[in-house]
Amino acid sequence: MGMQDMPQYDVLILGGGPAGLSTALHLAQLAPELIPRILVLEKAHYPRPKLCAGGLLADAEVILERLGLDVSEVLHVDASAAHLDFAGKGLTISLPDTHTLRVIRRDEFDNWLAKKAQSRGVEFREGVTVRKVQPSDDCVIVETDMGTFTSRVVVGADGSNGVTRRCILPDEPVHTARVLEVITPLEAGLPSIAAAHPYDQAYFDFFCVPDGIAGYTWDFPTQVNGQLMRCWGVYDTNILADMQRPALKHPLAEEMARHGFDLDSLELKGHPIRWFSPKNRMSMPRVILAGDSVGADPIFGEGISIALGYGAFAARQIVESFTDDDFSFTQYKPRLLRSPLGQALFVRWVTTQVLYRLRWPWFQKFFWRIFKPMIAFVAQIFVINWAKRTK
Ligand SMILES: Cc1cc2nc3c(=O)[nH]c(=O)nc-3n(C[C@H](O)[C@H](O)[C@H](O)COP(=O)(O)OP(=O)(O)OC[C@H]3O[C@@H](n4cnc5c(N)ncnc54)[C@H](O)[C@@H]3O)c2cc1C
Repeated sequence: MGMQDMPQYDVLILGGGPAGLSTALHLAQLAPELIPRILVLEKAHYPRPKLCAGGLLADAEVILERLGLDVSEVLHVDASAAHLDFAGKGLTISLPDTHTLRVIRRDEFDNWLAKKAQSRGVEFREGVTVRKVQPSDDCVIVETDMGTFTSRVVVGADGSNGVTRRCILPDEPVHTARVLEVITPLEAGLPSIAAAHPYDQAYFDFFCVPDGIAGYTWDFPTQVNGQLMRCWGVYDTNILADMQRPALKHPLAEEMARHGFDLDSLELKGHPIRWFSPKNRMSMPRVILAGDSVGADPIFGEGISIALGYGAFAARQIVESFTDDDFSFTQYKPRLLRSPLGQALFVRWVTTQVLYRLRWPWFQKFFWRIFKPMIAFVAQIFVINWAKRTK
């Protein structure tokens, strides 16, 4: 390859959500000499809307702190406890002296994170849509609606419907959850219910599993333009898609009606979440995937902290690839699976297969109500807190 044919960039990051932004920030932290040769391509303009309930687990905060970032700069609402219930009763998780879940709005959070990456010197092009990703021996060619870019390494961080994965791994099986979300004011005129179900806490209810919805409904506190609101939704992994199931809207409408809300009068939005399976490929020479394009947590569709974690992991692999001048990325998946993040994702994948396939009401009650000390213990060790265990 002659000088005139040298790739324009060392690292092109396709997609500027939490996965792409975390990759950029970690690259800047680990290898500042790479900064002038990194480019993030993002199809939207910040602050851009992203359908998401915005629940951040402590793992996200640990990763951001290590980057020297304080997420409390972003408008947020804290949930003091999280309830994991079957039909209104189950396990309550609360942490001593701190919040259990911090809820942000994604337009604000992603904009904040993008500005942090820009302030550390990372170059962005907004309003550029990637159309095709084509790896070759020496570089990767990325075709967009604003011209063609070349890079030594490409990170596919373009989300659940991402074009990178479709270009490089077109035959991989797709595991996609269907998700609906709606925002409401705090109360709908049933004070007795509000008293038993304080809206400064987060609720997950698995009552829909026996009906073949392999997931849960949620109710979180949130804010929109500083005004306190509630975010409701329903998540279905789709692993029971071969059986007859009610419309996804049905359990959400039922849960909201119990609290005095009429879903039919509200604006409901949907978006898929691609979830993690250890069977899936995650890279090919010169291209690695991060975030939803590899897969979010299958149990809950929790993907923000996971995307930040993938970004940290991908950045380390990329820095090593430049040091060793080896861009095969054959070790990306095995190393990820051995990492605390990979282990947490693996345990969540196994749990998904058990929890949502054994859908008898007695099992669900047993799992969330009787088995709860065991669940809480296992979750602490294997499911959450993976960021603290990451070196
Ligand atoms: C309804 C709903 C509720 C959710 N609630 C939660 C929650 O409470 N907590 C949680 O942790 N997770 C939640 N998730 C999951 C979470 O939103 C995702 O896991 C997370 O956004 C993944 O981050 P990412 O960076 O991989 O992808 P994304 O956030 O999807 O970012 C991808 C980026 O790539 C850009 N892009 C896409 N295609 C192209 C292209 N062709 N060219 C250029 N740019 C492109 C997009 O504009 C976007 O900015 C929820 C998801 C949904 C749908």
